[in-house]
Amino acid sequence: MKKCKGLLSLFLVSLLVLMLAACGEDVASQKASSSKGDQNKKIKIGLSVSDLTLERWQHDRDIFVEKAKGLGADVFVQSANGDEAKQLSQIQNMLSQGIDALVIIAINSDSLTTVVDQAKQEGIPVLAYDRLINNSDVSAYVSFDNVRVGEMQAEYVVKNVPKGNYFMLGGSPTDNNAKMFREGQMNVIQPLVDKGDIKIIGDQWAKNWDANEAMKIMENALTANKNKIDAVVASNDATAGGAIQALSAQNMDGKVAISGQDADLAAVQRIVEGKQSMTVYKPIKTIATKSAEVAVQLAKGEKVEGSEKVNNGKVDVPFIKLDPIMVGKDEVMDTIIKDGFHPYDDVYKNVPENERPPRP
Ligand code: BGC
Repeated sequence: MKKCKGLLSLFLVSLLVLMLAACGEDVASQKASSSKGDQNKKIKIGLSVSDLTLERWQHDRDIFVEKAKGLGADVFVQSANGDEAKQLSQIQNMLSQGIDALVIIAINSDSLTTVVDQAKQEGIPVLAYDRLINNSDVSAYVSFDNVRVGEMQAEYVVKNVPKGNYFMLGGSPTDNNAKMFREGQMNVIQPLVDKGDIKIIGDQWAKNWDANEAMKIMENALTANKNKIDAVVASNDATAGGAIQALSAQNMDGKVAISGQDADLAAVQRIVEGKQSMTVYKPIKTIATKSAEVAVQLAKGEKVEGSEKVNNGKVDVPFIKLDPIMVGKDEVMDTIIKDGFHPYDDVYKNVPENERPPRP
């Protein structure tokens, strides 16, 4: 009987051990399945756009959202339409929406320190899209070689007008990129000023990259200089468009060399019509796709390596640096049209059929 009791208690103990083990297995498998659930949780990315009224950023938004979706992320987009205070409050709002990563196209590269640092404290990594954000804990920066953009603009204009009166038309004074474009432009122009070949007869920056403001700046410059302007180094296509309107009112469009940037459809049309000298094409597909990949990586807590690092006054930010492409009349076909950025028919819309180059 004693032996029987002993066997029974051994049996009961074993049963208990087995039950406990099974129970433990249950907890473990629950944990595994819940962490799998986390992995499958949809990633949420906030995209704060400076100004969707400008053509360029609409392309960026569309391609970014499509790519991110393809990578399994939902994107919550807001545009501040050039209003700094609005961008700040939109970002604060996004931070309270449970996003996993924040992507910012900054209006003012110097005024987002607090909000970016707040994101960092809440464990939300920030990607600076196209424009660097200064003095803050940014996790990554994806952009083009912006100094090179400025050099390309000046090189093209100087090639057409090696000597003469130059007007420098800068972009938004609060945009870090605008300063880098100017740095590049002066790399090319300053030696020619020193040599006495080029005279800078005016230098003004268009608030918010606004085309109307650029037009007014150009009107005043033409009046002040009795129309004696040979070349305009404009920093993007929107401002070039404004300046060309002012030139056209004086029948000077096509006679004054003028640069641009972005390959906006209206600008490419002006180039093939001979009203704008060049643009800088920065394949939006490349920056938007790369940024979506990086944003998803950051959202997953993965480390991002840049091709180099850039110091923003607070940290060394991994910089994924992309190459811009110089486009004059002769390059339109092999770049913008070949890439499908704008269709042939749209680009040559205002050029008589018999003057158009053959279709690709
Ligand atoms: C961008 C340009 C753009 C400009 C105005 C800059 O930061 O680099 O491509 O034309 O902003 O939106």
